[in-house]
Amino acid sequence: MLFYRLKMLTAITTPLCLLMLAMPVMSQEEPPASSKQKPATQKVLLAELAEDENVEDVERSEPRRIPLTAPAPEVAPAAETAAPTPRPKRSPKPKKVAPNIDLKEVAPAPTPEPPKDPSIQDHPATEEQAIIEPREDTAPEMETKDPEPANNLVLLDSEVLPGTSTRLAWSSGIQIAGLSQPTPVLVVNGVNAGPTLCLTGTIHGDELNGIEIIRQTMYDLDPEKLSGSVVGIPIVNLPGFQQGSRYLPDRRDLNRHFPGRPDGSLADRIAYSLFENIIQHCDMLVDIHTGSLKRTNLPQLRADMNNPTVAEFTRGFDRMAVVHSSGSRGMLRTAAVNAGIRAVTLEAGESHRIQEHQISAGVNSLTSLMEKQGMISRMFVWGDPQPVYYNSAWVRANDGGILFSKVKLGAKVSKGQVLGYIADPITNAQYPIHSSSDGRIIGMAVDQVVMAGFAAYHIGTEAKVPGE
Ligand SMILES: [Zn+2]
Repeated sequence: MLFYRLKMLTAITTPLCLLMLAMPVMSQEEPPASSKQKPATQKVLLAELAEDENVEDVERSEPRRIPLTAPAPEVAPAAETAAPTPRPKRSPKPKKVAPNIDLKEVAPAPTPEPPKDPSIQDHPATEEQAIIEPREDTAPEMETKDPEPANNLVLLDSEVLPGTSTRLAWSSGIQIAGLSQPTPVLVVNGVNAGPTLCLTGTIHGDELNGIEIIRQTMYDLDPEKLSGSVVGIPIVNLPGFQQGSRYLPDRRDLNRHFPGRPDGSLADRIAYSLFENIIQHCDMLVDIHTGSLKRTNLPQLRADMNNPTVAEFTRGFDRMAVVHSSGSRGMLRTAAVNAGIRAVTLEAGESHRIQEHQISAGVNSLTSLMEKQGMISRMFVWGDPQPVYYNSAWVRANDGGILFSKVKLGAKVSKGQVLGYIADPITNAQYPIHSSSDGRIIGMAVDQVVMAGFAAYHIGTEAKVPGE
């Protein structure tokens, strides 16, 4: 796999040669203070390809403020810094039993469910109306004691029996009832007890790699060998997906409205419904995105490294790059962390595309995570690879014109190095863009026409490994 990735890396780029005039370009952010603190023991990143997410989502990236051994008062709620406390689950009530569907088999599209209406929801679909007990969701990480049988997973008014998988449907209830368009939800409930991992994709409707990452991850699971459960929503923003748009029909960015409000805007309501009906049932969440606006991201996690629980969570993702980002208000991962759920954003590639090597990196890291959490046993043991941690800053174009890059995604760069050029198509002037610091290209714009101020290169500077 690694060899494959390296091969892809070398195959990707074709340098563009242009004549140019020297002209400094200033970065927007100062290089993080901790960028020089490379621990001697830290391994150099392996050449995993990672591409990134969206500029707005990382504008708040900054050096870690406090040692991870100390509590993080400002970011983490009390319940988060203390020993993990089981989050309150909703009072269980009898639900219909979800049909056991072998997710490996091609199945007809799920039957649309009626819009949520409490008065008509409580009719069990079968006679098997089992008594539901609260799930043991606080399975400790990395344990190898005798597996404990799982309980039914209650989700979306259905019960998913242990050792089964199924397809459910979530409807946010914002549409005209007869035109309701349920969003498919894939569920695998393992035969043994364990944590619930949720995977969300395409919250931005034009970000497609996550759809395939979730498909490959979930359809490879065997409920008979799984401890815990995995809930996947490949396409959260179905309207945006159908229109090839990042946004919701009201032109809002869904990923700025979590945890949502039942009486707010359309985006607030959709966010609220998703959060209440699904996300609150998760112990862990990986929200999958890609770069936006013709930018591509090295596969990487975005995580609030000031939160010790989140920082520890990032250790399970194989060699993936981890970019510290405290997260914007309203982002799903921010809301989830505030609700006591371990959550990160996974960035892979660029929007509007299906990219095989980015998808492989994502699937591999999720598989690694599930193994680390004791949910599955991987056939091959590859040691205990650690992620590499970054602070980051964007380098912006100071001139309008056509951007031609001289560096490739994932490249190591040094301060002052020419990363690319802006060519003015009218005057023929050419303006170089220089790196603001030593680091690695963790995200970049694809060659395109840009205006001054366009965020062109996302430079990651290696940061201290948390907990050391
Ligand atoms: Zn996104």
